[in-house]
Amino acid sequence: MTALRFASLGSGSRGNATLIEKNNTRILIDCGFGVKDTRARLARLGLELEQLDGVLVTHEHGDHIGGVGRIARASGMPVFCTAGTHLTGRLGDVPDLRLISSHRKLAIGDLEIEPVPVPHDAKEPVQYVVGDGQQRIGILTDLGSITPHIRHCYQHCGALILETNHDPMMLQHGPYPPKLKRRVAGNFGHLSNEQARVLLAELLHDKLQHVVAAHISDKNNTFDLARAALQPVLNVPADEIPAIDQEEGLGWFSLKAWN
Ligand SMILES: [Zn+2]
Ligand SMILES: [Zn+2]
Repeated sequence: MTALRFASLGSGSRGNATLIEKNNTRILIDCGFGVKDTRARLARLGLELEQLDGVLVTHEHGDHIGGVGRIARASGMPVFCTAGTHLTGRLGDVPDLRLISSHRKLAIGDLEIEPVPVPHDAKEPVQYVVGDGQQRIGILTDLGSITPHIRHCYQHCGALILETNHDPMMLQHGPYPPKLKRRVAGNFGHLSNEQARVLLAELLHDKLQHVVAAHISDKNNTFDLARAALQPVLNVPADEIPAIDQEEGLGWFSLKAWN
């Protein structure tokens, strides 16, 4: 038995992919990178594409789905997504499609996966809580607001990969056109640093081992602002809060067993 662990191939508006491993089971959540790029990013984490057991899609935006069809065709791995995501046609042909319910848990090898519907401007978007029966990792990006169901599902996670997309002042004064600013800030857009801080304060518990800032906008936010928002809740030095880099991703984080 090895510890449940996670890493990221990258996060941000130019591509997202989260890697989760338990024993010999390895899955990706989303893949916004092409085949060659995905292989290179996996190699940094000591893995090859052929070692993955599947890719779960959150929604059809290009930064999440852009590479999914391509890596599935290159490797033959199964693709899991909601019917709404599939109906957009953005996946293209994939060799092994598995449609999932946004309200039903599923298992892939040694991993248990709970899809959670989220308010985002896509057809049937979900995020995922992934566990090994003991520990759970909550991945929560690409949502404009928090629902009671989200609050419920993300309780008691040992790790949270949490969207800190934008600073509202930077967004307001930044380069985006007005329509896009309204979209990002809206209820079906992305979580601001402040929204992430409030949610984290609600979800905080003494067995939460890792909190990672994710999907940080390179136009409307800075790593320092994202970390500064979470710092008062976590009560650790801000520069010790991990944040996922678009290019560098994030190295492996393991979850210690609770006893
Ligand atoms: Zn996104
Ligand atoms: Zn999105």
